[in-house]
Amino acid sequence: MSGSVNTTLLIIGGGPGGYVAAIRAAQLGVPTVLVEGASLGGTCLNIGCIPSKALIHVAEQFHALQAYAGDSPLGIRTRAPELDLARSVAWKDGIVKRLTGGVATLLKRHKVTVIQGWAHIVDGKTVDVTSEGAKGKAGAPQRIRCEHMLLATGSEPVALPFMPFGGKVISSTDALSPRELPKALAIVGAGYIGLELGVVYRKFGVKVDVVEAQDRILPAYDAELVKPVHASLKALGVGLHLQTQVLGLAEDGEGIRIQPPKSEERVLAADQVLVAVGRKPRSRGFGLSSLMLDMNGLAVRVDDRCRTSMNGVWAIGDLTGEPMLAHRAMAQGECVAEQVAGQMRQFVPQAIPAVCFTDPEVVTAGLSPAQAEKAGMDAIEGVFPLAANGRAMTLESTDGFVRVVARRDNHLIVGWQAVGRGVSEFAAAFAQSIEMGARLEDVAHTIHAHPTQGEAIQEAALRALGEAIHI
Ligand code: FAD
Ligand code: NAD
Repeated sequence: MSGSVNTTLLIIGGGPGGYVAAIRAAQLGVPTVLVEGASLGGTCLNIGCIPSKALIHVAEQFHALQAYAGDSPLGIRTRAPELDLARSVAWKDGIVKRLTGGVATLLKRHKVTVIQGWAHIVDGKTVDVTSEGAKGKAGAPQRIRCEHMLLATGSEPVALPFMPFGGKVISSTDALSPRELPKALAIVGAGYIGLELGVVYRKFGVKVDVVEAQDRILPAYDAELVKPVHASLKALGVGLHLQTQVLGLAEDGEGIRIQPPKSEERVLAADQVLVAVGRKPRSRGFGLSSLMLDMNGLAVRVDDRCRTSMNGVWAIGDLTGEPMLAHRAMAQGECVAEQVAGQMRQFVPQAIPAVCFTDPEVVTAGLSPAQAEKAGMDAIEGVFPLAANGRAMTLESTDGFVRVVARRDNHLIVGWQAVGRGVSEFAAAFAQSIEMGARLEDVAHTIHAHPTQGEAIQEAALRALGEAIHI
């Protein structure tokens, strides 16, 4: 043992859940130690949200320039663009470095003790941390004792047992740092990662085929909402193989064997295979099982205050299961920090917005019409197409719509959905209106700036009231 540290709050994992909890706890005067085995910022900053959105931007710019090299109605003519992939990846890495460096600085400024190393749980108040010493050898473990332990170890990609990661079979982490582009990429899973990265690779000029077990893409969202995404993928030339099983790698390694519905098994040619069939909580391999916490499969079960079944042990973020989203992890982190500092807090959000950064984007907060009906609610809805929005026309982004769902009796807004270019930014307005208990009239009678795509939000509320102006 190379020494021991005593603290009030010990956080395992420096992702968006863990680092936000650490900063908030330190702001409130709680002595805090944060242990991170890989890199501060976790999945989100290093191999998730940020790098994927950076590459999506590169692909969008490249694709727009390609359009200008053809017959652009905007009257812009340019030569066919070239992609310097190494530079694109370096630009993406630069953003990651700036942000992770920023997190390190914030933690330092708040006097959080950051320990680089892998934590191993000894008991509910004790953790041993092993750091890599010189020449990559593990140094002697450091013991940390705490009053409160916060588990924020995140998640990892699910592998297909018959097609494990390695060689041609890659995860999102590999797909975010390509050295060269494959000619043909097969993607297993038409969820968030499969489609966000599928669009990137397709816009870079790669032949992309997506294989999905369910009968539609993005099955977590409602069918109407994903139709414009489906149409856009088709227009981009992405091959969509729905209701299709993946059987394994082809024998010659030149692709994957698939079983489409109602037809013969066949080989889908590909020189790389991105497996994106979901993520699982990282709850194994560091002694967590010794705490005998109540679990929900691999996820740690928590109550509405993020407490686990053991006194003084808290859990947040992807480790606690769906929805595995960075902003949920951050909000839970703040919630726990404030409770450790003695405040009364609960984690009971009215809505956790979700965005899929495809082209067009999809954004939701609260209930869809079907979910409202399932909840036994008598609901009304208002839909406003972006085709009737002036700003959307000037941005060449008229595919899509905004939909609001509200209670029929008192017009309380219970859900929002939108699909369209740039609509991810609606997440703020959607979540705020639900969290603040807005009624349709509140949104309908708020003056929205013209010309903005946000006017479609107001018009959706007006339409639900039967008062839409521009349709
Ligand atoms: P993580 O970010 O996974 O952090 C956990 C940290 O704990 C890691 O740094 C890990 O090294 C560390 N750790 C684990 N075990 C130990 C141990 N024993 N000792 C020390 N350290 C340990 N979400 C969104 O909201 N929006 C997006 O656009 C989005 N895009 C994504 C794109 C991709 C490609 C991926 C993979 C994910 C994306 N996500 C997105 C999901 C998001 O990244 C996660 O929801 C979020 O990072 C979860 O935060 P967390 O703090 O719970 O865990
Ligand atoms: P996902 O759950 O979004 O999608 C997985 C897809 O794979 C589903 O459509 C599922 O039906 C399909 N699938 C599962 N097994 C299959 C099989 N054997 N063959 C064919 N299809 C199969 O998972 P993901 O795309 O891996 O992303 C993981 C998580 O990361 C997400 O759930 C989300 O929490 C997070 N994430 C969020 C964002 C964002 O917020 N924009 C972006 C990326 C990732």
